[in-house]
Amino acid sequence: MPFKPKAQATVNRRNALVGLGATAVVACTPKSTDPRKNYDADIIILGAGLAGLHAAYLLTKVGRDVVVLEANDRVGGRLFTLDHGDGFTEGGGELINTTYKRILDATSRLGLIATPNADVSNKTGYWADDQVVESKEQRRNIFAQHFNPFSEATFSIDGGAQRLPEAMAKKLPRAPILKSYIKALEVSDSLVTATDHTGRVWRAPEMICTLPFGALRQLKVNAPIPAVQKAAIARLPYVQIVQVHFRAISQFWTKDHLPADMWTDGPISQVTASRDADGMPTGLFRASIRGAGLASLYQDGGAGLYQRFRAELARLRPSTYAAIDILNVVDWTKNNHASGGAYMDWAPEQIAQWAATMGEPVGRLHFAGAHLGVTALGMEAAMESAETVCARLIK
Ligand SMILES: Cc1cc2nc3c(=O)[nH]c(=O)nc-3n(C[C@H](O)[C@H](O)[C@H](O)COP(=O)(O)OP(=O)(O)OC[C@H]3O[C@@H](n4cnc5c(N)ncnc54)[C@H](O)[C@@H]3O)c2cc1C
Repeated sequence: MPFKPKAQATVNRRNALVGLGATAVVACTPKSTDPRKNYDADIIILGAGLAGLHAAYLLTKVGRDVVVLEANDRVGGRLFTLDHGDGFTEGGGELINTTYKRILDATSRLGLIATPNADVSNKTGYWADDQVVESKEQRRNIFAQHFNPFSEATFSIDGGAQRLPEAMAKKLPRAPILKSYIKALEVSDSLVTATDHTGRVWRAPEMICTLPFGALRQLKVNAPIPAVQKAAIARLPYVQIVQVHFRAISQFWTKDHLPADMWTDGPISQVTASRDADGMPTGLFRASIRGAGLASLYQDGGAGLYQRFRAELARLRPSTYAAIDILNVVDWTKNNHASGGAYMDWAPEQIAQWAATMGEPVGRLHFAGAHLGVTALGMEAAMESAETVCARLIK
């Protein structure tokens, strides 16, 4: 259903009256002094990622009127499936652990299918000091360098991870408002406002902000946020990743008889092959550049990246020379103002300093998002955080 703010509904009624020749009546209609009449919804949710969409689902289920505001031109946030016509690659979250009960429940409730992933551990090549390494110990060291908590996940959603937030959004009575980049927030005793990039001010008695702190820290916020929470919003670290998505023009992995997937200790940390139902590479790949690799390959924010990436890949693996076409670059760094990074990355002692309080509501402004998960990580944490905030709001 297209969004129709309440203010706009009033204008339409006035226009109708004007059409009936009732201009004088309209001119005399007193402007409401009751702030509730000027609300855009019972609850405004910032961000149409998993946390925002799940919160919207839970709140609409109990009869609340909810509007979701999203900066991007698509829903999903850090779930981002890139369609290449003959297949897709994942730009964001993909892997679902068996413990992700909420994600698996939403997937089946919305008619999607989560399929177990093929075990690629024995289909992955390891490179250290520019050489292919064979020993278990060397492989373990490289793996440990790049280990992330999602690597034990076992399911992926058929057709791509982004199908889940898309299906969630479709079920909402009010479609999320896309391309609405919020620049400022203000919390008062009776309402919360969010001002978007066009200057439009959105008003509601309650608001849920699901922005990752890397994105929230870009906003001007006028609210009595306690100092500890302010510090967490300003400094919670996010892993910085740039991905290069590419297509193999020829099967370089059959040419050099090495596995299609790669882990390396060099600037290109990881290369992941998209695979078909039989676990065979489809020819579409995603490479992740992080850590020191960003400084060496992404030094000037993109210019020259293609050439440096190809050269580095071919240096490690000569069979890729003239055998790949770069399709897309996905930037999960601070340059991306809607994420500020890929996922949070606690530094020592920050949990003790911030975890207990950084998600506390500030008056009528509430928080959710994967960074506020307690028992879960990643996609599941986003869903969990939505349930926590909704439990507070639905009393
Ligand atoms: C490369 C990568 C790989 C990952 N791999 C996995 C994995 O395999 N398994 C796993 O479980 N998790 C993984 N994750 C993490 C997972 O994707 C996230 O934890 C989860 O999707 C976060 O959901 P969220 O709703 O909390 O935040 P987001 O998805 O970030 O949603 C926040 C939304 O707010 C919007 N927004 C930001 N700023 C503004 C603004 N100013 N105004 C309006 N809207 C704004 C954003 O556009 C976004 O849509 C990965 C993430 C990345 C980036």
